[in-house]
Amino acid sequence: KLSIGIVGLPNVGKSTLFNALTRSDILAANYPFATIEPNVGVVAVPDDRLPKLAEIYDSEKILPATVTFVDIAGLVKGASEGAGKGNQFLSNIRETSAIAQVVRVFEDGNVTHVDGKVSPVDDIETINTELILADLQTVENALKRLEREARMNKDARAKLEAVQTAQEVLNGGRTVFAAGLDTELLYDLHLLTAKPFIYVFNVDEDQVADEELAAKLRALVAPAQAVILDAKFESELIDLDEAEARELLESTGQTEPGLDRLASVGFETLGLQTYLTAGPKESRAWTIKQGATAPEAAGEIHTDFQRGFIKAEIVSFDDLMEAGSMQAAKAAGKVRMEGKDYVMADGDVVEFRFNV
Ligand code: GDP
Repeated sequence: KLSIGIVGLPNVGKSTLFNALTRSDILAANYPFATIEPNVGVVAVPDDRLPKLAEIYDSEKILPATVTFVDIAGLVKGASEGAGKGNQFLSNIRETSAIAQVVRVFEDGNVTHVDGKVSPVDDIETINTELILADLQTVENALKRLEREARMNKDARAKLEAVQTAQEVLNGGRTVFAAGLDTELLYDLHLLTAKPFIYVFNVDEDQVADEELAAKLRALVAPAQAVILDAKFESELIDLDEAEARELLESTGQTEPGLDRLASVGFETLGLQTYLTAGPKESRAWTIKQGATAPEAAGEIHTDFQRGFIKAEIVSFDDLMEAGSMQAAKAAGKVRMEGKDYVMADGDVVEFRFNV
């Protein structure tokens, strides 16, 4: 499963945020037999299409798509040289597909900052530096090998050049992701800074609706995505029922919980999209890679569906809503039969035909 690693300096609110993520309880509620590891939080991706589908189909249950977050403790200054739990940290983060850095913006005299002052720019720089140093080590080791190989084998030369370019970028203090390098030839190096980055700015409660501050923080990390939230507030919100939560949200000028925004941004950053299935038992969003074909989408439900794939009966969510029912959509000619080369679109409502 694709996951997003949560990193950040000490005392920025990682545990507080992670606690809220794990207590959103989507796994326990919907997948009772799943084992949940303590450092893994699974969060629903908000999708207002699902309740509408469930209404048409009179579904008993709604199963949203999810995003998995992994708490990667132990990133401190010097981690790339093995300080703290440096090496453990690096191997944990290598397994994730994207990185979310929690950055402290909130001021609180009772919560010390490791560097003595609250400075988002400096914190981002500190973390980036550790990741860059770790990548430089990886790159230097790879270069020794690639230089040897490139002398014998022409194919290795393109890769050598790609890795040399990465080294230049890293030496210049930039991440591979921010530099926008083509990472295809770098793939098997599993560079940390090649992973897509999300910044989670942990602000005070009275800053969550501050548009000016938000614009500044976003500009600081663009083109990477920024999510601005108050981790402490989120951890309180998660314990309330829906009506209470909505009231509290509105009182702070927010329309949506920060966790929901984080889930949506995370999902998008991972390059994922959903298709939908619906019936009396459940209305459900399934997660696929953007660009996945119909058989690949079927394989998400069951490998037999992919192996025995014949065709997919597909209606777009909007067409289905406009028609009001599957039957009416069929009568209106809105339901298509798609074959094995069809590339799925976000929000396709699907029924697969397959051989077993
Ligand atoms: P970690 O070391 O990054 O995991 O940080 P923690 O989540 O343990 O938070 C450190 C301290 O900051 C705790 O006392 C939290 O209650 C507090 N804290 C976390 N988020 C916020 C916030 O948004 N505002 C304020 N005022 N305090 C927070």
